[in-house]
Amino acid sequence: MKAMVLDKICKLEENRNPLKLVDWPMTSPRENEILVKISACGVCHTELDEIEGRTPPPRLPIILGHQVVGRVEKVGGKVRKFRVGERVGIAWIYSACGKCQFCLEGNENLCDQFEATGRDAHGGYAQYISVPEDFAYEIPRTFSDLEAAPLLCAGAIGYRSLKLTGIQDGENLGLIGFGASAHLVIQLARHQYPHSRVFVHARTERERDFARELGAFWAGDLAEDLSEKLPAAIDTTPAWRPVVEGLKNLERGGRLVINAIRKEEADKESLLKLDYPRHLWLEKEIKSVANVTRADVREFLQIAAEIPIKPEVQEFRLEEANKALVELKERKTRGAKVLRIG
Ligand SMILES: [Zn+2]
Ligand SMILES: [Zn+2]
Repeated sequence: MKAMVLDKICKLEENRNPLKLVDWPMTSPRENEILVKISACGVCHTELDEIEGRTPPPRLPIILGHQVVGRVEKVGGKVRKFRVGERVGIAWIYSACGKCQFCLEGNENLCDQFEATGRDAHGGYAQYISVPEDFAYEIPRTFSDLEAAPLLCAGAIGYRSLKLTGIQDGENLGLIGFGASAHLVIQLARHQYPHSRVFVHARTERERDFARELGAFWAGDLAEDLSEKLPAAIDTTPAWRPVVEGLKNLERGGRLVINAIRKEEADKESLLKLDYPRHLWLEKEIKSVANVTRADVREFLQIAAEIPIKPEVQEFRLEEANKALVELKERKTRGAKVLRIG
């Protein structure tokens, strides 16, 4: 099968083609697994963190990609949930132990044996993937394959982030960064909290226009002062300055949720601008989001279909994965990037 493979950690500035197109041995499903013929795979910022070594795959070479949509091609002997031909999605959570305290409490995203699709196990930048049946999801009919792909990470983790803000209807919500995840979160927030105003901080005018189209009450630059304080905000950027600025805009007792698996080092000195009375005093909180649970993915897919959320998708061929990643790094983004595979 064809696959785009990472065989060496590198910086994208120095190597704009980190993934190589190879003829990869066909996988075959174990008894509890399904083999999926992939039709679409979303491109996520986490792939940049893997390629550049901020969350390095434990083994190389590896096939990246964790927003996978396809059809069941073959099932293992003990598979009960899926049949050949059914459409499924696969998300960042590839497996967890199922036995530890975290797993038993429904926090399998925090399991120390958590395995990620496209990092600890081969992912979706390929024609086929095998996955345990318990870690695959039925996809609502409302969505095409390409539309469904970004729901599986950008959407599901965005949903988890929004839950973690603890926001109530009518309370202001801030979104810092407006890429693949935030453009889905705004649609979700407008539906779940119809009386809340959404304030979007984005770097480019294009992203701000997009945010306004999707119902942002305000969209502008981080440096601008807001007319109102925010009880909750979600930061989806890879940088540090937005954390400090985001805290400044919080209401007393407000919460800043950081939806990023890793932050980059480039502007880390921004943290020295953290002024305790201005940024943290009065019971402001910072919380990170780690991974997703299967329940997050299932709940989100269902809500997304009810609304329905419309992901904006920019399409690339599998062979163009490097191009998609470079554009993501350079923030040439509107909506979500997805590889069409077939
Ligand atoms: Zn992701
Ligand atoms: Zn566990």
